[in-house]
Amino acid sequence: MKYRFEVRDLDCANCANKIEIALNRETYIEEANLNFMLKRLDVVSQEEDIEGLRAKIEKLAGSIEKGVKVLVQDEGKVKPLVKVGDEHTETHIHGEAHEHVVSHIHKGSHGHIKAHIHGEDHQHTRSDIHEEVYAHTEAHTHEHNHEHHDGKIANKEKWLIVSGIALLIVGSMTEISIFYILAYLFVGYDIVIQAGKNLLRGRMLDENFLMTLATIAAFAIGQYPEAVAVMLFYKVGEYMQGKAVGYSRKEIAKAMDIRPDFARVVSSGKEEIVKPQMVQIGDILEIRVGEKLPLDGVIIEGKSLLDTSMLTGEAVPTPVEVGSEVLSGSINKEGILKVKVTTSFKDSTVSKILELIENATSKKSKSENFITKFARWYTPIVVGLAIFTAIVPSLVTGNWQHWIYSSIVFLVISCPCAVVVSVPLGFFAGLGASAHKGVLVKGSNYLEELNHIDTVVLDKTGTITKGKFGISHIIEMGAPKEVILKYAASLEQSSNHPIARSIVEAYREEKYVTSDLKEISGEGIVASINGEKVLAGNEKLMARYQVEMPKVDYIGSYVYIAKNQKILGCIIVADQIKEDSKEAIQKLKARGIKKVVMLTGDKKEIAEEVGKNVGVDQVFAELLPQDKVARLEEILQDGEGKVAFVGDGINDAPVLARADIGIAMGGVGSDAAIEAADVVLMSDELSSISDVLGVAKRTRRIVTQNIVFALGVKILVMLLSLFGIANMWLAIFADVGVSLIAVMNSIRVLGGHLGYIKAMMMHKE
Ligand code: ADP
Ligand code: MG
Repeated sequence: MKYRFEVRDLDCANCANKIEIALNRETYIEEANLNFMLKRLDVVSQEEDIEGLRAKIEKLAGSIEKGVKVLVQDEGKVKPLVKVGDEHTETHIHGEAHEHVVSHIHKGSHGHIKAHIHGEDHQHTRSDIHEEVYAHTEAHTHEHNHEHHDGKIANKEKWLIVSGIALLIVGSMTEISIFYILAYLFVGYDIVIQAGKNLLRGRMLDENFLMTLATIAAFAIGQYPEAVAVMLFYKVGEYMQGKAVGYSRKEIAKAMDIRPDFARVVSSGKEEIVKPQMVQIGDILEIRVGEKLPLDGVIIEGKSLLDTSMLTGEAVPTPVEVGSEVLSGSINKEGILKVKVTTSFKDSTVSKILELIENATSKKSKSENFITKFARWYTPIVVGLAIFTAIVPSLVTGNWQHWIYSSIVFLVISCPCAVVVSVPLGFFAGLGASAHKGVLVKGSNYLEELNHIDTVVLDKTGTITKGKFGISHIIEMGAPKEVILKYAASLEQSSNHPIARSIVEAYREEKYVTSDLKEISGEGIVASINGEKVLAGNEKLMARYQVEMPKVDYIGSYVYIAKNQKILGCIIVADQIKEDSKEAIQKLKARGIKKVVMLTGDKKEIAEEVGKNVGVDQVFAELLPQDKVARLEEILQDGEGKVAFVGDGINDAPVLARADIGIAMGGVGSDAAIEAADVVLMSDELSSISDVLGVAKRTRRIVTQNIVFALGVKILVMLLSLFGIANMWLAIFADVGVSLIAVMNSIRVLGGHLGYIKAMMMHKE
């Protein structure tokens, strides 16, 4: 069975790695995956008792990082609901009540509480609900107490640290060693205790243990102030690092947060606040200024500007009015809107995006995998070196003092924390920054891979062009225009192709009933109408059914209509090039993309015209979907670098899947395309590609900086210590200081400017 837990108070990324490894060793767990960034633990286990499992996991995790809490996460994502009516505080409860809604109940609870129960909780009674609400109040107070409690702990810690510093100062003035020892105990008592516990459990490579060992050894060779200082900075550094990571995590989550909290349903004339999951298709919602649209729908009343930047990265608000289709996750900027819901929450834009983002963080980049492996070896090697340094040269030279000092320096530097924290954080920030620009990258691995692309292959329709065809001519070849259009629209109703949608839009009258309808990718549609075989499609389709037709010469794509092998007419449709296509292709070139290729199923003349207009290097036209795959295979073979394919996915999901990186248009694109792609452009604009290339590059640069800087400083300090040049102060910098700098550097991936770092320093948990 699969379980999902939330892990709280987990601040040390290296500990997270260790917890994951330890969990995977347990017999009752088949697979454990701990995502440090999302504080999320996914476990596969045969265990039936989830609470028992939770307790076991919490115990194990707590033995690695003190105070870690493991909580069961809502299963199935369907969050609880309470409906609040206005007359009697009518309450519908699904599962457990949600915070937001609980407050509503409290507000109305002096009135009469009438409860209706839906869903799985049929057997609940009214008192259950009271209990439930009560339990939640209790949970809240508890939470409160807990925070309070934590606050106390933090205060106690602060006093201990301040007293420790005072004692350290007294110690260094009086040179009386008892002050140093007291200072040491004040500052590091808990680390020493934890070290002792872990030693008993046989965890010799535990960070607390290594720090304790280093500081006790420092005492042993008479380095009193240094011993206290190492403990002190270790403690303060850990605290600041936890704070920095916590802040970044929130900041990144904010960049990606599109989850709506509630929906205001007004279908019945009454106002009900419900969880978006509970809203049904056809329900009418009211959205006020500043509120997020919880579900996709159509406006039936009102006029406004919508901020879609959370979805598309587009900063300019979109005007909407009655009849406009609106997407969940956009924010209403003006006036009250009434929206009729067209999709369930599960299928809404927001849910789809959230699902992509959630899955993205579990696909790790090569650099992250490398760092995880590296971390596993780093500590044992450094500790081994420390032991060697303490013993062998001392025996040879007899200078124990010098070599033990060096080995203490090694021990202080033995945590790979700096890279273990900052590398995943950098990628996470990269995913966040891309999402912020309206580009969903489905994993750190793709974000890394984007740096190796040197060829971009573009689909034409819907990718370079808008995919919104206007009908420019209808040519009669055997039937009047009306009839041609009616046949065409009747067949095209069932298709998702941009040409089909445009034809259907142009003919709103009643259509024929079709049967045996078949869509042939890259050609068109065949169906029976009143027992007669009707075709709508291009030359290839006509050739396939041996329909003869006169020559036409217009600019545009041709949709021939034939009935019983006789041509009836031809509809000429024309598309428009997207405003930003040309500039986007120039930007790609400026970003170092060597070759831009266009593939299309459309006619050669149109393809070449469009290609010339936007400045692609090569055009391949009249390709069937399978030909597109074949062409792409050739391109994959040719180039040295990786190849990205960009498409709207109508007929080209296979090509998207085959490319090194498949990039799909998220707005107009089909579900299959979004599924098959590795990167989704929510704004449908080609210029987003150079944006995400920019983020990928920045992520790589910053991650590399962190790896080189952190490991460089550590190795340098270790070498210097062998020559007696580095002291313990330098060692503590190489450990704590480097970690902090690397974490702050990672945050720069979000925006590249230093405002984030300042905000981070001011941030309070
Ligand atoms: P592209 O997206 O590169 O233009 P497609 O494979 O989607 O290529 O389509 C290629 C051609 O096939 C279109 O230009 C059109 O002529 C024809 N076609 C495909 N589907 C339809 C359809 N439903 N109705 C009419 N023509 C179609
Ligand atoms: Mg297409």
